[in-house]
Amino acid sequence: MKITGIDCFQLAWEAGSAAEQRGAFLRVLADDGSVGIGEASPMQGGLASLVILKHHIAPAIIGADPLDHAVIHDRLLHRLVKLGPEGALGGALAALDIALWDLKGKMLGQPIYKLLGGAWRTALPFYASIGNNSVRSVAEVCRVVEERLRDKPAAIKIRFDNNRVNLDADIPGDIAKARAVRKLVGPDFPLAYDANNGLSIGGAIRLGRVLEELGFWWFEEPVQHYHIREMGEVARRLDITVSAGEQTYTLAGVRDLIEAGVTMVQPDIVKMGGITGLLRCAALCQAHGVELVPHQTQPTIGHMASMQVVAAQLHATKPVELDDPSARRHVVFADAPTPVDGTFHLPATPGLGVTLLDDEVAKRRIEIG
Ligand code: CA
Repeated sequence: MKITGIDCFQLAWEAGSAAEQRGAFLRVLADDGSVGIGEASPMQGGLASLVILKHHIAPAIIGADPLDHAVIHDRLLHRLVKLGPEGALGGALAALDIALWDLKGKMLGQPIYKLLGGAWRTALPFYASIGNNSVRSVAEVCRVVEERLRDKPAAIKIRFDNNRVNLDADIPGDIAKARAVRKLVGPDFPLAYDANNGLSIGGAIRLGRVLEELGFWWFEEPVQHYHIREMGEVARRLDITVSAGEQTYTLAGVRDLIEAGVTMVQPDIVKMGGITGLLRCAALCQAHGVELVPHQTQPTIGHMASMQVVAAQLHATKPVELDDPSARRHVVFADAPTPVDGTFHLPATPGLGVTLLDDEVAKRRIEIG
């Protein structure tokens, strides 16, 4: 099989939505008529990744064999490395890798987890990831948590989505919200707290001690993501599991977090290396006895790709992430992943197991310049 072309585009989920709210998708076309689909990190609409795909990656992969996906990934990473592997290039390579794995699955008639050596599990519970809690009152936080409990999540994560330029802005308020949510869900329900890089080291220790007292399961990205040594210091000083890594784009970057002391890492399949990249992270984590709990807030292609990898890992210590409900979830897919009683069931269909609806894509696609 040979790659004959790639088609990359943004999708506007709702009419008139801002460019930075769009999704970034890719179709890779093969000479036997089959199509693989992929997704890039949608930061600022994923536009920078799509431009790299269209202008720098497409010309380099026409005629290549999709089964050479790991060689293609590493060759392009090194050829384009000066565009910056931490960000837009990572998203572009991730989208391509996911699409090539989808093609590979379709070509061989197997779901991706089978090509990874088989699934330890095909039923995956999820945790409800609830954003924007820094701007909510205590009562509003509790109301939103109550709403999400109706989906029967195995755990809940409250994210604070801080602006990262005003550290320790409201620690008493943060603590009040954590206490209120614990009271609401009862003493044993699994909870996580995501500071979204909004704390100083001292602020993180102060808040982390309260989260320990409240029995939270993990404490995510307490300090700035680029302060790797400091993230490790917080992890080492606290008893609660401190996690990080959703803004890490290279395998060496994940190693640095682990060496600093972080014991749960959260790379994102649409940011770093796609399925090939996440598999390498999995090996690294297994060697170090560190938990791999992928970050994933894209509810369709990214989510399916991530679950294919999680299904095939020996250890899956935490549920998979499911972001707040949004229009992004279902409109352009024939079979978008949907939980049943709090659990996603991976289909046995070839490839990723999710299908784009061409008519719906045509209505919403935005061309890339
Ligand atoms: Ca996070």
